[in-house]
Amino acid sequence: YLAKEARTGVELYQPDKDRNSPERLNLLGDLRRALDGGELKLYYQPKVALATGSVHGVEALLRWRHPVHGLIPPSEFVPLAEQSYLMRQLTAYVIDAALEQLARWWHTGLRVPISVNISARDLLGSALPEQLEVGLGRFGLPPSAIQLEVTERILTGDQAYTQETIKALAALGVPLALDDFGTGYSSLIRLQRLAVSEVKIDSSFVRRLADSQDDDRIVRSIVDLVRSLGLRSVAEGVESDAVAIRLAEMGCDLGQGWLFCEPMPAAEATGWLRERFGSGPESEYGYRPEV
Ligand code: C2E
Ligand code: MG
Ligand code: MG
Ligand code: MG
Repeated sequence: YLAKEARTGVELYQPDKDRNSPERLNLLGDLRRALDGGELKLYYQPKVALATGSVHGVEALLRWRHPVHGLIPPSEFVPLAEQSYLMRQLTAYVIDAALEQLARWWHTGLRVPISVNISARDLLGSALPEQLEVGLGRFGLPPSAIQLEVTERILTGDQAYTQETIKALAALGVPLALDDFGTGYSSLIRLQRLAVSEVKIDSSFVRRLADSQDDDRIVRSIVDLVRSLGLRSVAEGVESDAVAIRLAEMGCDLGQGWLFCEPMPAAEATGWLRERFGSGPESEYGYRPEV
């Protein structure tokens, strides 16, 4: 991803890796201002059915245009925010922005669910389910219009508060997706005990799928298991036709990646969705490269 944006000429800023470096502390201060100053924007990346090409949802991904440092990727500032109280403000902002966008799409016939990434801290207390309940109600949206992406580590944490909040979200009817699957601690067996409806296979296994027998075997066994549990599988980091075709053969449900589309600003995403939404099955043989 870094290389890709570097190629498009956007300089990426990477603060000193030292946790307490002045650069990082400065950045945290900047982030606080960025939250109010409109420097943070959501980009949207579609999730595409590998068998039909139809669009099943979009993931909201945060982008920060820093006035001095330029584009700062979430891998730099989300972990920073996670170490502070700012994370909850950040998530509150993301949820509100996603719900607003969702309402604009939903009420003009683009019924595309939006997935939002959340962090461990967001599951502390009842603020998140409350914000979602109020927001969905205000915009007249069904709970299934939004989905929360959480990582294994968050979901398998045995803190009571995490489980309480997850129960509240389930009661509300907001679906959960397990993000970055394969990189955490939980085994495939534990999957069935997690209250998720979607499993996103980490891009590190997907990207080189077509050239690596090991990756092919890993992804195939995840896809099989996910299906046998009645859940939906999503492959992250689909960059080539060869990978998309192989995933479709395996029976993986959805794909997300540069092959289909990079994350786009809202206006561009709206155009992209309008063009494709409701177009129905494109090929009975599943994913086919465009010619
Ligand atoms: P993630 O949730 O696993 O998101 C997928 C990442 O893969 C995104 O990186 C996306 O831009 C990137 N990606 C998409 N297609 C491809 C592809 O074909 N190849 C490759 N190599 N990568 C692809 P991004 O946007 O830099 O976000 C990185 C991570 O930052 C996310 O990983 C997520 O964990 C976190 N993040 C992003 N936005 C938010 C947010 O609003 N809140 C929270 N808490 N975390 C966020
Ligand atoms: Mg995600
Ligand atoms: Mg992921
Ligand atoms: Mg990730």
